[in-house]
Amino acid sequence: MFLFKKKSRYSQLREIFHPENGREFDQLTKEELYHMVYHDSITNFYNWNYMWKFLDTRYRDPNVRYCFVHFDIKDFKMINELYGHFKANDILIMISEQLKKETDWILHAVRCDNDNFAIMTKPYSNEELEKILLKFFEKISTPPCSKEFKIYYRCGVVPADDAIDRDDRVADLAKYAQRLGTKHNCTEINFYTEEMYDNLITSRRYLAELDRAIANDEFMVYLQPKYDINSEKIVGAEALCRWFYKKEKILPPAEFIPIFESYDVVDKIDQIMLTKVCQMHAEFARKGLPAMPVSINLSRKRIQNEHLIEQLCACVDYYKVPHELIEFELTETVAFYDIEPMRQFLVDLHSLGFGVSMDDFGTGYSSLSLLQSLPLDTVKLDKSFVDGILENQNHNTERAALLIKDVVSMTKHLGFCCLAEGAEEKYQVDFLRTCGCDKIQGFYYSKPLPIKKYEEKLAEQQK
Ligand code: C2E
Ligand code: CA
Ligand code: CA
Repeated sequence: MFLFKKKSRYSQLREIFHPENGREFDQLTKEELYHMVYHDSITNFYNWNYMWKFLDTRYRDPNVRYCFVHFDIKDFKMINELYGHFKANDILIMISEQLKKETDWILHAVRCDNDNFAIMTKPYSNEELEKILLKFFEKISTPPCSKEFKIYYRCGVVPADDAIDRDDRVADLAKYAQRLGTKHNCTEINFYTEEMYDNLITSRRYLAELDRAIANDEFMVYLQPKYDINSEKIVGAEALCRWFYKKEKILPPAEFIPIFESYDVVDKIDQIMLTKVCQMHAEFARKGLPAMPVSINLSRKRIQNEHLIEQLCACVDYYKVPHELIEFELTETVAFYDIEPMRQFLVDLHSLGFGVSMDDFGTGYSSLSLLQSLPLDTVKLDKSFVDGILENQNHNTERAALLIKDVVSMTKHLGFCCLAEGAEEKYQVDFLRTCGCDKIQGFYYSKPLPIKKYEEKLAEQQK
């Protein structure tokens, strides 16, 4: 029997210890203490202490099969900022109240911390559970404070067969699957698999090794030249990271950047790239090589850092690199996510003389008209566009080619420089030229090169 049955909202804790109530800790009853240990003060729902015992095989019947679910609210930080903490708390309460009602499929449910919730469910198949969860998330998709806003969830599930004998480590597995949900505009449910476990171990290893690798100077800049489509001359480059892992083998960014992004440490890599590119610019200037802009990828989460511009400037100015020689590439999804902070960030960058590109155009959700409100210099068409250009067009592929034609001409019409990424064949470059595309960055001209090789290419071109 729990106390506070009638009070289902807000913190009893805060009430008990509020100076006006004047209760001392040793005046609390056993029930009150029990309640405090197993309940969460914001929602008055169960907390993680309560769940833990149902997971621990020393206490539970090991024959009870269950699936384990862990979820959080997408962009909860933004919701907090938009509506304030109290209204955001109301969402947590709404979720807790709904969890209490869903007794036909839930064995136990708790609020772990912040916007994180965990559920032990009856042992369903993945397909069954996915349906149940989608229905559940739909019921809690409208915040009490605004009927227009839609809440999306990021959810990880450990299937019953994988949950056996895991004890509370099952939560780590579910959280790992949950973290794979990276989109902003939909609810995502990811099921844990064995393969994910191997990836999890690799992620942990890479994370643990990050500082060592930085100290050992293992992150290198490769440069992929950008070519003017008409003169076929190098007009700049993009800096792409490579990890010279323990100075034994070279890891491509796809193996580690997404991991560092999901653990919010990718800024360390981006900063190293910027520093190395500035050092390179300074050295090229000493050697009398032509000065060409180099673009750096900026991970989208970094925009939330209010000191980012200062940090970027401090680095570039330290090496006395003219700002116009540095361009920043941001992915399209950023624009979709939260346009105003993004726009302000780009305006600031631009007014300081840096170049700004929209990366991976065509893979996200923004449209050219949305991009029009951003102070961009270049739109980089994603490789998937270019892949649509085939040597022998048939009726179906003609449509893809027409689409590219329209996108390039709209990009130009809006005043942007248009760069196509990932052209590998001559006929692709020829077609893009006829469309009016300005620049090409692709294997047809060059793969990403170590700085030394890029320098040789520049020197050769200068002759
Ligand atoms: P991205 O920014 O879209 O970079 C372009 C990627 O396309 C590069 O892959 C490049 O090698 C590849 N590429 C260019 N032309 C061709 C082509 O003709 N054919 C094929 N098959 N591929 C082509 P890379 O170097 O493996 O980088 C992958 C992604 O990793 C980058 O995509 C970027 O999102 C991320 N990344 C790389 N370096 C950094 C970095 O320093 N910081 C951050 N935040 N992300 C980085
Ligand atoms: Ca890029
Ligand atoms: Ca790209």
